[in-house]
Amino acid sequence: MLSIKNLHVSIDGKEILKGINLEIKPGEVHAIMGPNGAGKSTLASVLAGRDLYEVTEGEITFQGKNLLDMAPEDRAKEGIFLGFQYPIEIPGVSTVNFMKTAVNEHRKHKGLDPLTASDFLKLMRDKKALVEIDSKLTNRSVNEGFSGGEKKKNEIFQMAMLEPKLAVLDETDSGLDIDALRIVANGVNKLKTAENSTIVITHYQRLLDYIIPDVVHVLFDGRIVKTAGKELALELEEKGYDWIKEENGK
Ligand code: ADP
Ligand code: MG
Ligand code: MG
Repeated sequence: MLSIKNLHVSIDGKEILKGINLEIKPGEVHAIMGPNGAGKSTLASVLAGRDLYEVTEGEITFQGKNLLDMAPEDRAKEGIFLGFQYPIEIPGVSTVNFMKTAVNEHRKHKGLDPLTASDFLKLMRDKKALVEIDSKLTNRSVNEGFSGGEKKKNEIFQMAMLEPKLAVLDETDSGLDIDALRIVANGVNKLKTAENSTIVITHYQRLLDYIIPDVVHVLFDGRIVKTAGKELALELEEKGYDWIKEENGK
């Protein structure tokens, strides 16, 4: 699904990621944890193709294709979904219309005709029920005036509608209340299939009380310094990140 090899990334000439290696297979949920400033959001941004970040070395392939050669919008159409810490608001565009455009663009990319109005409504109905989002939200402008929890719900709804092959969810280090955590976790759990994969990026172990990852990685100072099963998240909850810092000479 996703293969990252020896990835080095700089911002303004400062190296942030210092040789990341990561392999994600279909059906797997990977958690990437680590202290503040480790480079977690940088990794998510590079996967999204934000141009602030300069890849100085290494490669990323997604389903056998060179991801770094693809424009951000093509990455989405190829099946990568990126949920962000700070979702954008789009005044004047309802979530319904936004999703209709997005879903049909994805279909066009695959050589499929746009959904008929009735098929689109059925898809909306099914996914709304799945992620338990209210029509009051989907009829409003995208994220405009949404609370933190509502933005999360909308993000998960968008993910459900687009049925990505790989979802990358970068969860903020603060300000996510327990309801928002549950929304994200329920979404990830319900949308999990044997074919799709998820990367959950989080500072806190708490999210992983609800999502059971197959693999947990610790990112520290631009490198993955530990990889293990879900028990690693529990160990981090108990011991914090200081032992990781000590083991890595900081
Ligand atoms: P994390 O998500 O793990 O907290 P980030 O990827 O946000 O870490 O940041 C990693 C490092 O890169 C930090 O030292 C941060 O200050 C730096 N950094 C991130 N974004 C920028 C930016 N836009 N300009 C300059 N430095 C940045
Ligand atoms: Mg941070
Ligand atoms: Mg971050």
